Amino acid sequence: MSIYTCPNCGKKAFGPATKAMAGRMNSKGKPCQNCGKLCVNGQGATIFNFIFSTIGIIAMFTIFLIAPKFEFLSYYEVPIQFGIVIGLIVIPRIIFAFCFKLHPSIRIEPMS
Ligand SMILES: [Zn+2]
Repeated sequence: MSIYTCPNCGKKAFGPATKAMAGRMNSKGKPCQNCGKLCVNGQGATIFNFIFSTIGIIAMFTIFLIAPKFEFLSYYEVPIQFGIVIGLIVIPRIIFAFCFKLHPSIRIEPMS
C-alpha cells in the first residue's frame, strides 16, 4: 500500500504536496480528492514531529546559553536561531511528504 493511498476509500488520491499539507493527528487534515474525507499524517508523523521539535527547542536554548562564550556563535546567533525556526516549520513537512502513512482524521472532542 502506497503512503499516498487514502485510508478511507483506498484510492491513491494524495501526492507529496497534499500529504505535506495534511498535517499531524491533532490538525484538521486534508480532504481526499476521491471521497472528500479528511486525512492526516499518522502516529509516526506525530511522534517524529514531537521528537524533532524537542531537539530543535533544546538546540535553540543551548545556542542561546553558550553563544556568549564563542565568538563564532555570538556573531551568528540570530541567523542560526532563525534557521532553526525555519527548519522546524519546513523540515517536518518535507518528511511528511515522503514518509509515514496517511490516517483518517479523528476529531477528538475537547473534554469539558
Ligand atoms: Zn478517500
